Formats: sequence, structure tokens, C-alpha cells
Amino acid sequence: MGVLDVVEIGHPVLRQRARELTLEELQSPRWQGFIDDLIETMRARNGAGLAANQVGEPVRVCVIEVRAPNPRYPYKPAIPLKVLVNASWEPVGEETFENYEGCLSVPNLRGLVTRALQARVRYLDREGTPHDEVVAGLCAGTHQHELDHLDGKLFVDRVQDPRSLTTSEGYERFHKAEFEARIRELVARVGS
Ligand code: ZN
Repeated sequence: MGVLDVVEIGHPVLRQRARELTLEELQSPRWQGFIDDLIETMRARNGAGLAANQVGEPVRVCVIEVRAPNPRYPYKPAIPLKVLVNASWEPVGEETFENYEGCLSVPNLRGLVTRALQARVRYLDREGTPHDEVVAGLCAGTHQHELDHLDGKLFVDRVQDPRSLTTSEGYERFHKAEFEARIRELVARVGS
């Protein structure tokens, strides 16, 4: 128990649709312990989120947390720790934004992805209590990225212009300043 290995692009588990957990499974020590390990792994790797299939378990569980400042994503406002079980989402309205995304399962690559500006997210927390929320901005982008994992999708599937793909070093050198300026305006407008 503790920090788990994160699997990388090419591993078939990342391409599987993850299955729902039953309430009984969710409340069991096996899956409660797994959720603790998923949180610990996300924090150890400085992720903004982590989905269960990224550590080789194809179940519909993901965790999200941004403790500002996150060294991987210094422009992201804080998001308190959230455990999402059996989650689904849908866009609210038609407005989208362009997000420069990276992923612990796709090392050393970032790319521009179009995300819904607002999303309605339904999920159970780790106690099994249902939640129904609307999230916006970067926070909405993070939710969409993590919930995509549970449907076997990676951010690279959603990169419309492959010319935006860049290594971490290339991102820092050539894309970061422009992107962060644009994203700070978005955060100022929608508040997250
Ligand atoms: Zn990811």
C-alpha cells in the first residue's frame, strides 16, 4: 500500500472503459484503501488528478486536487481534494476553451485540447453520497480530462491540431507565456 505505479500510453488498460463499483465494493476496506493509495500517488507525482485505470485498475474512480501552486500547473487555482466514484458528465452551454494539457500517463508531452467551459458532473463521493455539481473553467477541464480516462480516452485523442504537441521543455520555452496569459484571463472571468 502507498504510492502506486502509473501506467503509460500504450498500456491497454488506459483504453478500456472502466466499470462501475457497487456501493458494497465502495465501502469495503479493499476499495477504501485503494482510494487512499490513489490520492497518495497523485500527490507524490504532482498530478492535478488521477484515474484508477492509470494505476492499472479499470474501475470508475478518480481523484482531483490542486494544491496551489502545483509545480506542473502553476496557473491552476486550488481545487480541494475530491474523490469521484461512478462519475458522468455533460457539457453545460456551448462555450469551449483551449486548454494546454499534460498527463502522468503521457510523459513529456503537452497539447491543446478543446474543453467545455462548464460541465455538469454527477458522482458518488467515497462514502457513497451522490453529488450533482456544475464546474467551470480550468476546474471543468480537469474534470473532463479525468472522466475521459474512465472511458478509455487520453488527451492526445482530443488534440485537434497536432502542431500544438510539444515536449515539456518546448512548452516552457515556446508556449507557456502565451497560454498562461490567456488562461489567467479565463480564470479571472469564470473564477476557476
Ligand atoms: Zn491524465
